[in-house]
Amino acid sequence: MDATPTFLEQLIAAGHLIPMGVDGLYGKSGVFEDILNKLDALISRHGAAQQAEVMRFPPAISQQNFEESEYLKTFPHFAGTVHCFCGDEREHRRVLDCVAEGKDWTEGQKASGVVLTPAACYPSYPVIARRGPLSEEGVTLDLLSYCFRHEPSLEPTRLQLFRMREYVRMGTPDQVLAFRQHWLEEGEKMMRSLALPLIIDVANDPFFGRAGRVLAASQREQKLKFELLVPVNSEESPTACLSFNYHMDHFGLIWALRTPGDEVAHTACVGFGLERITLALFRHHGFDPKAWPTEVQAVLGGF
Ligand code: ATP
Ligand code: ZN
Ligand code: MG
Repeated sequence: MDATPTFLEQLIAAGHLIPMGVDGLYGKSGVFEDILNKLDALISRHGAAQQAEVMRFPPAISQQNFEESEYLKTFPHFAGTVHCFCGDEREHRRVLDCVAEGKDWTEGQKASGVVLTPAACYPSYPVIARRGPLSEEGVTLDLLSYCFRHEPSLEPTRLQLFRMREYVRMGTPDQVLAFRQHWLEEGEKMMRSLALPLIIDVANDPFFGRAGRVLAASQREQKLKFELLVPVNSEESPTACLSFNYHMDHFGLIWALRTPGDEVAHTACVGFGLERITLALFRHHGFDPKAWPTEVQAVLGGF
């Protein structure tokens, strides 16, 4: 019998993840949150030179913006829509009866007009587009949001609700590509300062269905997405902790984002998976941050 506990079981035993009865949904210990918040601050220090505009959105967007984003075309399998009870007293009695009888009570629920945010940058494009054409400098944003993806998993690094810190750039293709190149270097520097083993590789998004395979191949070929990967669950399949995405004119076209020269704006974003980086630190330095290498503690501001 193989009694070696999995990484997930070890995290639960250490109290850092608190099971809630659903795969990919966990409470976190105070220590976990302390590390995550210190990472958030470390990212801010690495991003300070960007003079990004800080915006914080709740973890949901309007159904209209969600539909406009075309997320349903490529990721219908991840989407989480909020549905609500909108019935009368009779319907209320039916719902309670269904619950009592163990039947599906959700049938009569109606779409609320609110959809859970799939990536931290989604709320920002329509908001910036509403301001009118970009200035010569373009726009750089600093975002952080809980994000939802319906991808239940036993890997602690694949959560259904997780926090994504992002910097987003909107502007000319040159501005946007320079931003992505900057973050490829700055992100690597930051992760090396945490003494984490890593590789950077070209990547693709898990687009849905047969058409998705074509999209994924083209995304790779054009090198639109890079990931910074750290072995967390296993050496063989390292985990994407940072992603560097060039969307070209995709969001610019959808929301009519314009440059001062009246061209369609291009956009790019760098995403930091805050839980994933925290888990990578646990994996490589142990479950007690007070026992981590002193350099790593110092980079995070001490424990
Ligand atoms: P993966 O290939 O592992 O599914 P991804 O390509 O879907 O990752 P992005 O869509 O680029 O990741 O999201 C940005 C960042 O958010 C990732 O680099 C990762 O750190 C984090 N992230 C993505 N999905 C999850 C998840 N299910 N749980 C925790 N963190 C996640
Ligand atoms: Zn993004
Ligand atoms: Mg994914």
